[in-house]
Amino acid sequence: MTPSLRILVRSDQPENMFGPYTGELLKLEGISDFDIADMGAGEDLPGGDPQVVILTRARLYNREQEQLLSYVRNGGSLIVFRPSYRLCEALGLTATFTVTPAAYLLPDADHPVSRGLPHEPLQCHWPMERYGLGSLPGGAEIIAHDYADLNSPTGYPAVVSFLFGNGRIGLCFYDPPATVARLRFGNPDQASINTMGFRFYTRSGDLFTDHFDISRGHLPQADLHCNLLSNLIAHLSPQPVPRLWYYRVPEERSALPMRSDDDWSTVEMFEALHSGVEQRGGHCTFYLVRDTNLPDATVKEWLAAGHNFGYHSNPNSTPEDPYLAIEGILRDDAANFEQRYGYTARTTQIHCATWRGYMDLVPVFHDIGLRMAVTYGSHLKTYGTYMCGSSRPLKFINEFGRIMDIFQQTTVIYDDASVQKMLTEEVDTELEKVARTLDNAVNLTYSPIGFQSHPVSYFTYSAPYIGGCMDLAQERGVPVLSMDEWLEFTQRRYEADLTLSSADGSSIECDLTAGSLSGPLTVAVPVPEGRIPTAATVDGQSVEPTLRSILGPRYALVPVELQAPGELRRITVHISAEQGGSQDYG
Ligand SMILES: [Zn+2]
Repeated sequence: MTPSLRILVRSDQPENMFGPYTGELLKLEGISDFDIADMGAGEDLPGGDPQVVILTRARLYNREQEQLLSYVRNGGSLIVFRPSYRLCEALGLTATFTVTPAAYLLPDADHPVSRGLPHEPLQCHWPMERYGLGSLPGGAEIIAHDYADLNSPTGYPAVVSFLFGNGRIGLCFYDPPATVARLRFGNPDQASINTMGFRFYTRSGDLFTDHFDISRGHLPQADLHCNLLSNLIAHLSPQPVPRLWYYRVPEERSALPMRSDDDWSTVEMFEALHSGVEQRGGHCTFYLVRDTNLPDATVKEWLAAGHNFGYHSNPNSTPEDPYLAIEGILRDDAANFEQRYGYTARTTQIHCATWRGYMDLVPVFHDIGLRMAVTYGSHLKTYGTYMCGSSRPLKFINEFGRIMDIFQQTTVIYDDASVQKMLTEEVDTELEKVARTLDNAVNLTYSPIGFQSHPVSYFTYSAPYIGGCMDLAQERGVPVLSMDEWLEFTQRRYEADLTLSSADGSSIECDLTAGSLSGPLTVAVPVPEGRIPTAATVDGQSVEPTLRSILGPRYALVPVELQAPGELRRITVHISAEQGGSQDYG
């Protein structure tokens, strides 16, 4: 069966290196019904008639351009990232052959694709190409605007859509996957350079100095670019595009994935933090130093109670430059951990947040069995902000376009010596900030918030703050999850496959196929404007649907409990009759 979406990439053109990352952005948005075709390897363009084709940054032969345009004329939908001037001119746009360097993008406040997003400029990091609307056919609509900086509109569009023949076209005059990569992983030119005024090791945070616009810190910028893209797909697709919700069940609208770095805390300190987490019904992953004070018997007991563990590699354990020593230390720690505790650690954080290169340690992490790296923290000036534009898990991609099978999970809120004064003297002010961050997450962006506490910090000064954060989360129904629970959910969601089976005026059916992991997932079925879901079933069994807008478009959320690897579940959502004047599927 042809998937609903086809992503066209071009392995023979280096400018396309972020093209395949589009698939990871869609997975993050819970969309899995797509394939990736490599035009560079001679694969078919819109072959099999998918509902939507995404052409990633590429230059086209005339024959290919004509093939794509004829697919659209015949009713197809085409989204193009950084379209070539030849394609733009063929569509009736006026090329200026100029750009806005390091552009910002402002989502339009009125367009259905963008009006559910915050109406605030977002960093794009790369040049925005400037096109005039010229003689566009079919009433072009502007979805996002090009800004030179926070306050300066250029008058050019960043994203447009319009009708063409019997089909529809959406153009992004920048490259969304490249933008998400720069937002999340920082500036590769700053790799292994200390930029933060901090003595010693380079950290991932060094990649973000003068790169991340701290005035945007309240916005998960990278995620919002993904939301804009998934909304554009939903808008242009002739058929509804079902998705997986960001969390396990509909009631969850954010999460605090939590870890704790040992840092040679005493048993008493560990126990204080552990009981603080347990009191709030949470779980935590503890990263233990090699000479930890925590007895093996306690590790066993806490594992059985749903907490988890990994190693906290110490770059100070040799007199060598950590740049040179850290890989060996990591490998030793992985082997020691496995031997001592009897299982492979899946997530980690290195002591002092030590980092090397742009992401040179990530292949090492993968090699020693890690599947989630918790390395990117909002340190110092960026404390409490979305420095990486996200706290959602997404696979790494390096500066050469290599995607690695390991998730980046950022930390937004933490305690350590650098914030001790602030979290002690201004605890109420800081908790008010956390309440605002949680409210935005729960009511608007559905962002998770990476969370960390050291036993030694909790015990000596941060319990009012860290405990307060967990209380605020609990009041809002936001669970505190161990990194391992969060990873397992992330993998379960990543591996599952969701496809549309049928859609008519009164019901939508889709099929969810489990990957290798069982457990809860929630399916989000699109509900047209002016309609409501009236009932839902999973394999014929009645389930109460929850209506929720995800940054604009509305969905019926239906929880599904996957019980076995590879099993297939059929989800049906019934929708109320049209209440006049609204868009329908068909
Ligand atoms: Zn540490």
